[in-house]
Amino acid sequence: MRMSSLFTKTSRTEPAGETSKNAKLLIQAGFVHKEMAGVYAYLPLGLRVLENIKQIVREEMNAIGGQEVMLTALQPQELFEKTDRWDDAKVDNWFKTKLKNGTELGLGLTHEEPIVDILQAFVNSYKDLPIYAYQIQTKFRNELRAKSGLLRGREFIMKDMYSFARSQQEHDELYEKAALAYAKVYDRLGLGGITYRTYADGGIFTTRFSDEFQTLSDVGEDTIYVHEGKKIAVNKEIFTDENLAKLGLKREELVEKRGVEVGNIFPLESKYSDALGLYYADETGHQQSIVMGCYGIGISRLMGMIAEHFADDKGIVWPAAVAPANVYLARLGNDADVTKAADKLYNDLTENGVAVLYDDRDERPGEKFADADLMGIPYRVVVSSRTIAENKFEVKARDKSDSQLLDKENLMKLFA
Ligand code: ATP
Ligand code: MG
Repeated sequence: MRMSSLFTKTSRTEPAGETSKNAKLLIQAGFVHKEMAGVYAYLPLGLRVLENIKQIVREEMNAIGGQEVMLTALQPQELFEKTDRWDDAKVDNWFKTKLKNGTELGLGLTHEEPIVDILQAFVNSYKDLPIYAYQIQTKFRNELRAKSGLLRGREFIMKDMYSFARSQQEHDELYEKAALAYAKVYDRLGLGGITYRTYADGGIFTTRFSDEFQTLSDVGEDTIYVHEGKKIAVNKEIFTDENLAKLGLKREELVEKRGVEVGNIFPLESKYSDALGLYYADETGHQQSIVMGCYGIGISRLMGMIAEHFADDKGIVWPAAVAPANVYLARLGNDADVTKAADKLYNDLTENGVAVLYDDRDERPGEKFADADLMGIPYRVVVSSRTIAENKFEVKARDKSDSQLLDKENLMKLFA
């Protein structure tokens, strides 16, 4: 991608009315546009980051047998009445709208009911199970506060998966497999070291705990108690002596921290399947309940979390796995030989599958370097008359302060 044809521009001034660090950085770098509080548009480079995160999540869900679907954003009232989740007194963050004939509709905030409804058409026998179905989709929630940028949106991107099992034991296996896949996702995103599987309230329908995945951060809304050695944590909401005993944890071994919930998994037992009449026939033809689980990951919240965490005073420092490009190629000056060498390097890198953001604009070096830092591209490569004179390229990693001169061969090897 050539910067000269990119319609977004960076800004050196902080956006007015934005208090959260992730939103400030992402707006200044031209990655997102704030439409209104809690509602952000993704611009070319920001969309690349979002897609990279989605792809990592998708690969890990596929690896455990997840089947991707895309359910609808418009929700029918009747379906949610069957599970008693339509009434605003029960679920207070619905966005609702109406058809011209007055029929009320909801805007998708979660999808247990729709996926169960769909499976009615396909699941009859024990042979049809187990199933993991997931989607990556926009969710709408009328959140009370939306001041944390991408961390809490009123319109945001979530991956939600639902599992359907023939027994509690089969459910437990699916649940653990998904938990392991989650850990892989956070590792690949660079957040593994600071993300804790956290015991939390399982809701009123089960005596089990749910599991949240909490990333340590001062801006986190949740208080959690971390066991560093066991790499697990307990949410404050269930932090009682009785629960700690159940979990085999000692109060004095836990440290209080703040966390951002970047995902969670829930045992649903048969609450939704029973309520909507989804059953299966076992080997002897008897009707049995289906045990469900649901598994959410905050895709856009993760983008905000990564921008919030991997940053310094100059801007974002994207982990390579999600960066919108791997190389920021800065051409300094516009001498014919410099332009020729930079164009050639751009083509060679691109042909080798390296994602390059080519700064081919006629800007001062200081501007280009500041943009490279703000945008957080993992490597900056400079082509100037000086580097050409030495027959080398100047390379600097975003997270290091010193640069090095490499010849073409070694440069290509660095990105191989
Ligand atoms: P929270 O307690 O933060 O409101 P939740 O318990 O409502 O989260 P779920 O409904 O289980 O979360 O959603 C699954 C995941 O989606 C969450 O773990 C979180 O990462 C993400 N998420 C939830 N609400 C939002 C939001 N308003 N903006 C961005 N991401 C969200
Ligand atoms: Mg919520």
